[in-house]
This record gives sequence, structure tokens and C-alpha cells, in this order.
Amino acid sequence: MAGPYTPEEFEGVPTDASGDLPGVPDAFQRLWTPHRMVYIQQGQQPEEHACPFCRAPEMDDEQSMIVARGEHAYALLNLYPYNSGHLLVCPYRHIATYDQATPEEVDDIGRITQIAMRVVREVSRCDGFNIGMNQGRIAGAGISEHLHQHIVPRWALDANFFPIIAKTKAIPRLLGDVRQEIADAWPA
Ligand SMILES: [Zn+2]
Repeated sequence: MAGPYTPEEFEGVPTDASGDLPGVPDAFQRLWTPHRMVYIQQGQQPEEHACPFCRAPEMDDEQSMIVARGEHAYALLNLYPYNSGHLLVCPYRHIATYDQATPEEVDDIGRITQIAMRVVREVSRCDGFNIGMNQGRIAGAGISEHLHQHIVPRWALDANFFPIIAKTKAIPRLLGDVRQEIADAWPA
């Protein structure tokens, strides 16, 4: 169900202090994310104490957009999704690059990534995924200080003209609904 959305539908979507929330900005503007501007205005990499991926696990799942928690890593919805269901898998520890991860963290990131693929495929019937990590700002990491693996579901028909003409991408569903659906489908 595509927009346009009424102001009531933005209820619960943060409009300030978005640096406290998880997410990785990219080149795309979202039609429905007014809080994005706060993020852009901050313009700096977070310190550990302000790092959104360190703070997210301290919040409850609805607040932080977390869909599942493992022992050494967790998965949450990207606040700046490329597509609906765009997840990030992060270690709890504030490390910047994959080679700094312990074997336990590598195992957990891999295990959670596999489960996330099954769950997202099941609930969204996507046709494929882009999975990967941007290591360092130069490589496109929005928050380069805290490792995160992207899991982006893809559909055969998901490309539209917006990204080409305006660096804008329409996301058809609100984050809270998507988070709930994925969390509900996550195996216990
Ligand atoms: Zn961190």
C-alpha cells in the first residue's frame, strides 16, 4: 500500500534526535522520512556513547526497530531503508571492521543473517537479496565506527524511476509494521 500518508500515520515515527536511533543514511531521500534532515544536519560520526548501534539494544525492540537479538549480535530494521524489509545485523560490541570481530561474533552475524533471509523471504516473497558490509566511510559506510551487515530484499519489479531521476525512492510500508511482521515470524 503506497502513500501518500497523512500526518497521523507518522505517529511514532521520530522527528527529532534521530541520531539516537539506528539507521544508515545513503544517497536516497525518502518521501516519508522527515527525521532524515536531523541526521544530515548532525553531519558527524557518533562517539561510542552516542553510537546508534550501541544504544539500540538498550531500548525496547519497538523503539529501536530490533527484530531479533542473539548472544553476540542482533538484527534491526534500517531507519533509512533502500527497500521495505532492509535489515542490518550488528555485533553488540563497538567495532568498526569485520576483521575485528571475534569468532563468536562472526558466527552470530552469519547465523542471524541466514535466519533473516529465510524470514524476510517468507514474509515478503522477495526474489533475491543484496547482502554486504561497507567498510570505512570511503566505501560508503554511513556509520563507519560500528560494523553492520546490510540485508536488502529485492523484487523483480522493485526498481522504479524515482532513484534515477531524483535520488528518491518510495518505500511503500511504514517501519513499525514491517518490524512487527518480521519479529513475529522470527523463529524462537
Ligand atoms: Zn557502536
